[in-house]
Amino acid sequence: MELYRGIPVSPGVAIGPALILDAAGMRIPQRRITPQMTEEEILRIHQALAVASAQTRETQQSISDRLGKHYGAIFAAHRLLLEDTSFIAELESLIRHETVSAETAVSRVIRDYVKTLESLGSDQSLALRAADLVDVEKRIQQELHGETIDPLKNLEDPVIILANDLSPSETASLDSKKVFAFATEHGGKTSHSAILANALQIPAVVGIGPVINSLNGSEIVIVDGTQGLLIINPDSPTIQRYRSILREQQHHAYRWIEHRDLLAQTRDGVRVELFANIEFPQESSQVTIRGAEGVGLYRTEFLYVGRTCDPTEEEHYQAYMSVIREVGNDRPIVIRTLDLGADKFPHMLRTYTPEKNPALGLRSVRFCLRNLPIFRTQLRAILRAALHGKVQMMFPMISTLLEIRQCKMILAEVCEDLHEEGIPFKKDIRIGTMIEVPSAAIMADHLAREVDFFSIGTNDLVQYTLATDRTNEMVANLFSATDPSVLYLIELVVQAVKKHQIELTICGEMSGEPLYIPLLLGMGIRRFSATPAKIPEVKKIIRLLDIPTTEQIAQTALRLETARDITSFLNRQWRQLFPDQVD
Ligand code: PEP
Ligand code: MG
Repeated sequence: MELYRGIPVSPGVAIGPALILDAAGMRIPQRRITPQMTEEEILRIHQALAVASAQTRETQQSISDRLGKHYGAIFAAHRLLLEDTSFIAELESLIRHETVSAETAVSRVIRDYVKTLESLGSDQSLALRAADLVDVEKRIQQELHGETIDPLKNLEDPVIILANDLSPSETASLDSKKVFAFATEHGGKTSHSAILANALQIPAVVGIGPVINSLNGSEIVIVDGTQGLLIINPDSPTIQRYRSILREQQHHAYRWIEHRDLLAQTRDGVRVELFANIEFPQESSQVTIRGAEGVGLYRTEFLYVGRTCDPTEEEHYQAYMSVIREVGNDRPIVIRTLDLGADKFPHMLRTYTPEKNPALGLRSVRFCLRNLPIFRTQLRAILRAALHGKVQMMFPMISTLLEIRQCKMILAEVCEDLHEEGIPFKKDIRIGTMIEVPSAAIMADHLAREVDFFSIGTNDLVQYTLATDRTNEMVANLFSATDPSVLYLIELVVQAVKKHQIELTICGEMSGEPLYIPLLLGMGIRRFSATPAKIPEVKKIIRLLDIPTTEQIAQTALRLETARDITSFLNRQWRQLFPDQVD
């Protein structure tokens, strides 16, 4: 049994067979054959090795010609393995005696070599050799497979995915009936894949570090998305313990229902509003089921999942109408305009050119303002749908005053067009901006004059304030919503909305974290928007608090100097306030 620690991003536990996806998204195969097929499989392996060896010889030659013999020698070493008689004998023996396919045999033998190399310590040159072995395996597997197939499509049996990384679009297309959980070597707490795992209610752990190269796909694994653990080949006491946690999990799955219809109101009668963040129209049913009062953030960029072209106006419109129908035309629905780019579907954009720093590049509203047909198409659809419900429009990643003014100008033009075309639309739609870039928080006093509401996106606000990539596990320790600099910016925003009497919501992952609720309430925030699954718990916490206590907590927290001090203080307060709920 091996245990790895990572970052817990989506709660719950799962036990099941591993499906391993390496850095190239290649699936580590597991297939058995009948005894009659063994000679055929052995022939396949010989053919694949011969082709792979010939290809490697060519690569060796061309690299030697271009870069010198020294570099070509790397591929000479690959060939040595491909032609090594004991390697081939091991493969044949596995196929014959364990009746596994050629692909499985290659994967098992090479991954055993990798494991042995890695067990010899952290010697850099050995690590490189391990990477070479994986490269050789890839070449043989490609030969065996022929063309590559999408390993996540048409899964027959339920699996737990262990991957180098999962892109937001890969995560978005996971079928939660077939994927019990996932764990990735890379990723951060507020990466979009993590947010999607929550939306899909798939237990997940990210940032576990290098593990998959030493696995061969025959493992049984446990993912504990609550504690942030990945357990490979658990022993039987561990399996038993987790089976009972699973039973408990299933038993309590609907415990939250008791809070659903209660009002989000503090003990001293202060009304708080709770909204849900959604990514897909299909999630809309969860909004009311979980007791949210509407949609505080609809991330429309997920309309791009599984597509090769831009959604049409009609497709946008139908998606928004289905949310309105499901959530109800009397509940607020905040539709955020496309936040494409950075880690969200950059390669699907027709105008995409690779950027050195995509998170600081042509992302989000900047992209829309440079690609007006795409932007206008979406604005038209939102304005049309807004006639049928309490729809509001929100612009993401606004970093200057000029940007929000440009958005308003385009919106006015689009209204004009619709009017001239005689198409019915909502004329006085409420508009808002996300505050998720430090410059927007600093300029909140000015921005507040331009819009009807603000929504603080703490995921990006933390990322950009602390210069810490939200998707990078190597800096996950620096990514902290309680850093005094972040709280200082939130305070600026709260002051601006009070002065200008506009609405304020907080919609980053911070708003669904029970530990932060007392602090945020104490700072004056009265509207929260969180993943639907988090709503009942947040409501429960709100109902146990009173405002004077939260104000005292906020006052003390805001005097502290480091994120660690503030988090420890909040934890101590939590233990005092809710001694029964300390987990
Ligand atoms: C945020 O940045 O906090 C936010 C809500 O937007 P997203 O997570 O979609 O970037
Ligand atoms: Mg954001």
